[in-house]
Amino acid sequence: MCSVGDAFGVDVADSLDTKSCKCKDCGNQFQGMGKRIICPTCQSRNVEVV
Ligand SMILES: [Zn+2]
Repeated sequence: MCSVGDAFGVDVADSLDTKSCKCKDCGNQFQGMGKRIICPTCQSRNVEVV
C-alpha cells in the first residue's frame, strides 16, 4: 500500500508538468508531459515546446 502511494505521488507531480508542444513532422499541437514527449498523432519525437 505505502509503496503504491509513493509511486502515485510521483506520477501526479509528473502529469502536472504539462507543456504546449508542437510536432515538427505533422504540425500537430498538443499538451505534452514528462521528459520524453512524443507526438500522439504520428508518434514522432521531433517535437518542440512552444
Ligand atoms: Zn506528429
